[in-house]
Amino acid sequence: MPTTEFRDASVKALANPELRANFRRAMDGLISKRAELFAQGQDWAPLRALGAAAKLNALANLPVLLEKLEAKLIANGVQVHWAETIDEGNEIVKTIMAKRGAKRAVKGKSMVSEEMHLNHALEAEGIEVIEADLGEYIIQLDHETPSHIIMPAIHKNKKQIAKLMFEKIKNAQYSEDVDEMTALARHVLREKFEHADVGFSGVNFAVVETGTLVLVENEGNGRMCTTVPPVHIAIMGLEKVVERLDQVPALLNLLTRSATGQPVTTYINMITGPRRPGEKDGPEEMHLLILDNGRSRVFADPELRDTLRCIRCGACMNHCPVYTRVGGHTYPGVYPGPIGKILMPQILGIEAAGDLPHASALCEACTEICPVGIPIGDLLVRLRREGARPSHGPIAVKGAGAQGTAREALIWRGWRAVYSAPALYRLTMWGLTRFGRMFPSWLPGLSAWTEVRAKPVFAKQTLHELAERAGISDD
Ligand code: SF4
Repeated sequence: MPTTEFRDASVKALANPELRANFRRAMDGLISKRAELFAQGQDWAPLRALGAAAKLNALANLPVLLEKLEAKLIANGVQVHWAETIDEGNEIVKTIMAKRGAKRAVKGKSMVSEEMHLNHALEAEGIEVIEADLGEYIIQLDHETPSHIIMPAIHKNKKQIAKLMFEKIKNAQYSEDVDEMTALARHVLREKFEHADVGFSGVNFAVVETGTLVLVENEGNGRMCTTVPPVHIAIMGLEKVVERLDQVPALLNLLTRSATGQPVTTYINMITGPRRPGEKDGPEEMHLLILDNGRSRVFADPELRDTLRCIRCGACMNHCPVYTRVGGHTYPGVYPGPIGKILMPQILGIEAAGDLPHASALCEACTEICPVGIPIGDLLVRLRREGARPSHGPIAVKGAGAQGTAREALIWRGWRAVYSAPALYRLTMWGLTRFGRMFPSWLPGLSAWTEVRAKPVFAKQTLHELAERAGISDD
């Protein structure tokens, strides 16, 4: 999506009262649930410090830990694949499926698979992929993408979902009863699980020490995807690594509380390989696909690396005054909200997503709420700078400098010259305060200045009256 389309999409979203009401209602609920939990004696600051330390430790040793993880997983019977790009990732998945002659797949929630556009890639090969997470299933029925990383169908209300299910599911009865709608989806999905050749899942944390893939979920669909079909393919970004198992509880605690306001998630799956001899369930074959897609470039920059701490809880979205008004479909790429504003310009490049770091008032609500302490505000400012002019990081941000213009560079050079010579600065200020208002409003580069700097009529009158009453001159 070219960057101007983000602006256009925001204007359109702001004019949609139903969308805004759906988001407002959902976000208010999530904010208060989270606040209640952290107010109940749960000590936020030490827990957050533990979570941040676990992620910082993993990032400090990432290349070594990834190699150790691979070795441990192989020892556990898992086949590990590395993909530098999303095309490579999709090819790897297609090859695994072709070897098994697989034609049907079920997929648990995985944002990385969304990033890869995996469903499209497989459907183009004639493979049926059914989303097994209820929210993902709903948006798949409507051929949409997720609007939130935790609650993909959050932009829809009950009535819209009831209508969609009635229209898209064969023999469905119209019902706005949540239990009946859920039962209908379960009925369809059970049959899909039974006949699936492959099950896909995401990964929340990949533990190096034990070679364990940790997966949290609320519906049980993740457990079904990873145990019922004969082949399980887990997909993760290379930043999901955690060194030790004892670091996981703090991260799980932070993740579920921050994401949905739950003290603990309904299912925590700890997967350490395919079915072993004598075991009654589990896949015959298990694969892990580790995707880079620009993450190595992010990792190479010591400041921007903090982006990779993210545990995808979505709390920054729920608290963001921009996201809560425009919704997730406005953003280019699959990660919306504050995390999308720092991640997508680095993955897609400044040309495609360079407007995102500017779509922020820098209120820092996201920084304050982030359970692993990512300095989102600082990274937004850094990426704004990269948009105008590449800084000297170890590896340039993709498309750095794409937003800079010769006119802007000239203005800033002039400003630097004025600002660094006190006499010239005083003379310029003297001239601007006296003659600034004489600049015609159409003058390029100065119209916004004169518009903002001119005192509004109301203010001028009020000031004049106040000055008169006080017996002083307001000149
Ligand atoms: S940036 Fe922080 S708050 Fe936002 S999704 Fe990631 S971990 Fe959660």
